[in-house]
Amino acid sequence: MQDILIPTPALHGWIERLFAAAGSDPSEARLTADHLVGANLSGHDSHGAGMVPRYVSSLLNGELQLNRAVEVVSDTGSIVVLDGQRGMGQSIAHQAMAIAIERVRLHGVAVLALRNSHHIGRVGHWAEQAAAAGFVSVHFVNAVSSKPIVAPHGGIEPRFNTNPFTVAIPREDQQPILLDFATSAIAQGKVRVAYNKGAKVPAGALIDADGRPSDDPGVMFEPPLGALLTFGAHKGFGMAVVCELLGAALTGGGSSHPANFARNYGVWNNMLALLFDPARLGTGALFESESASFIDYVRSARKSELGEILMPGEAEQRYRRERAERIAIDHGTMAELDAAAAAIAAARGVELTPLSALALP
Ligand code: NAD
Repeated sequence: MQDILIPTPALHGWIERLFAAAGSDPSEARLTADHLVGANLSGHDSHGAGMVPRYVSSLLNGELQLNRAVEVVSDTGSIVVLDGQRGMGQSIAHQAMAIAIERVRLHGVAVLALRNSHHIGRVGHWAEQAAAAGFVSVHFVNAVSSKPIVAPHGGIEPRFNTNPFTVAIPREDQQPILLDFATSAIAQGKVRVAYNKGAKVPAGALIDADGRPSDDPGVMFEPPLGALLTFGAHKGFGMAVVCELLGAALTGGGSSHPANFARNYGVWNNMLALLFDPARLGTGALFESESASFIDYVRSARKSELGEILMPGEAEQRYRRERAERIAIDHGTMAELDAAAAAIAAARGVELTPLSALALP
């Protein structure tokens, strides 16, 4: 079945109206729509509009809190610890990054510890906020939900989540280098998208409940449940562990163990971000020429059957060009989105247009 096409500005407006009707102030509703549509635009449908039903059920079940401001837990100038107050991650992470960016302007470097935020989505979005200010950023993030979904290397049962790792490196007159990935072989949302589409997932991403390799996304939704694997075997596993320890245990957020699985509907993120001003290294011109020489040399390699060599961040830039006017949504996700709008309309006593009504003919 063909996906349903929605004009990109219409999708943005629909998400903004939905969260405004839910109770978000105009800024939070806009930041949430910016972020989710931004993820679709970047090619990461796993973290785009398809997250709306999850956020709505978290909100209606009293977990996600609207219109929260970050609370400063401790502040030593260049090191700041913030509590997200279970607030909307798209607003909480934006506020947290703005504080960290201001600290880099003052001190040249900032360590940002953010805990207790609802889902902060595509972490690359926050690294881009730092890059737009001219700063390098490195992000270690853990995710906690009602149950873990990724198996440790050497294990069969899931013990943690898809813990993303992200780095942005700004360059003069160029798009930043942006490395941004889940430490699982594929992001959880990509399993959801495949399940909703009735598609398979790539080999090496999933195991069934007995630990056998599987390409069926159903093993993550229909009992007995299997697990995602980490990318790169023990290497991705090691990065996931580092994301738990730096992103959660050290920030004061909850790391992945049963005492922290109490909430049933939301996805919670904790993040340690290291930001610095590369200009303070005094190597600006050398950095630009060295990185350009390196990238040119890398691209000069004979091509494999993939046919091209992309630098980190280029895939997302390409998607943005392709999707600027319309975004495709599969039928399963569309049904969930319409149901989420109906749930908010019923809970708040307002009228909301179903997203499917905005589809292109
Ligand atoms: P992915 O597997 O698509 O990898 C993305 C990275 O690989 C990007 O840096 C991209 O530029 C690069 N890339 C893509 N194709 C490339 C190619 N052909 N050559 C070279 N580089 C290429 O990403 P993912 O693991 O599916 O993660 C998707 C998103 O999910 C990320 O934005 C991540 O932050 C987000 N995420 C968030 C959470 C959370 O809890 N908030 C959890 C997991 C993932």
